[in-house]
Amino acid sequence: MAKVHLEDIKRKFNNVTAIEDISFEIPDGEFWVLVGPSGCGKSTILRTIAGLESATSGKLFIGDTLVNNVPARQRDVAMVFQNYALYPHMTVAQNIAFGLEMRKVDSKIIQERVANVARSLALEHLLDRKPKQLSGGQQQRVALGRAIAREPQVFLLDEPLSNLDAQLRDDTRAELKQLHQELGITTIYVTHDQVEAMTLADQIVVLNRGRIQQIGAPQSVYARPANQMVATFLGSPPMNILPAIYNDHTFDVSGQSLAIPAEMTQKVHLRQGYSFDLGIRPEHITINTDSELNEQNAAILSVDVKLVEPLGRETLIRAGLPGSTIVLNVQVGGNVHPHPGDRLYLQLDLNQLFVFDPKTGDRIL
Ligand code: ATP
Repeated sequence: MAKVHLEDIKRKFNNVTAIEDISFEIPDGEFWVLVGPSGCGKSTILRTIAGLESATSGKLFIGDTLVNNVPARQRDVAMVFQNYALYPHMTVAQNIAFGLEMRKVDSKIIQERVANVARSLALEHLLDRKPKQLSGGQQQRVALGRAIAREPQVFLLDEPLSNLDAQLRDDTRAELKQLHQELGITTIYVTHDQVEAMTLADQIVVLNRGRIQQIGAPQSVYARPANQMVATFLGSPPMNILPAIYNDHTFDVSGQSLAIPAEMTQKVHLRQGYSFDLGIRPEHITINTDSELNEQNAAILSVDVKLVEPLGRETLIRAGLPGSTIVLNVQVGGNVHPHPGDRLYLQLDLNQLFVFDPKTGDRIL
């Protein structure tokens, strides 16, 4: 195991800056997830740590060693890709053992390690099969097993579950978490899937356009996003964003007034007459029977139901503000079933309301 430390890493491809200002330190044994939309630079960071790309500038340490000029195979990291290429002519056991044999590890130790890895990944009954006799999920477990068998200091995973179907993905995700709890290898995991990020990570690093937006424990990043990009990227359905104009403790949202308690507006300076973006998550909205408030620190918006999606445990509603193009996602209990065209009164929990600067996207409140 080893800590991984990036100091002001930048990578340019000709004139394109893929990543810049990338600095973080992953303590020994932690599981960190790099997450962000396509093209934000996740894979470039991972490949730089693996030694498959070189940094244009900045310093990269694995353990206490500066590894900028250390070739990939000497970095003692193992990487698993989305397209896990197994050797088709070898059995599962031979695939898992391959890296160890290349390193001329003693054959007894190889046997032991293959047996251990097969046990932790539930591959024991498949050891004599060839890859084409395995399901996609089993093949992916073999690819993980091959990486784990090397007992690397650092484990790098680039979207390892994205080729699996939904059920297998959930199962393998849980297995990965379990495996990390058992082995404690420092792990860096790249995904654009926010569920994977939220469930697997000790810490997540949210990236956008080659730069870090926020680093933190998943729950705290979800609860206190640094900016609008982070706020809308984490959470499904995503946070609602409502353009509004502020005046005298009140936001005007497309002609409807949201009165804000004085103690909230005192915390920050909101300029009179200026535009802001309000953020509220779908789960922080409830449905009121009429336009009267029955909670403190809440505000009401009238909306018209456009779409209802019953999911069993919960119901997702898409509802539009009358006379505007603004549509809200609302997540309520599975026993609530409005109809398209119904007028609803949405109660917004103002303790959960965010205010963003529409120019910079930074969170103000
Ligand atoms: P995805 O989720 O789609 O895999 P990503 O977040 O992993 O995306 P990267 O693959 O790291 O993103 O790419 C970051 C940026 O760098 C993109 O704009 C990409 O086009 C660019 N880039 C990556 N590799 C190269 C390359 N070899 N040559 C030129 N540009 C590249």
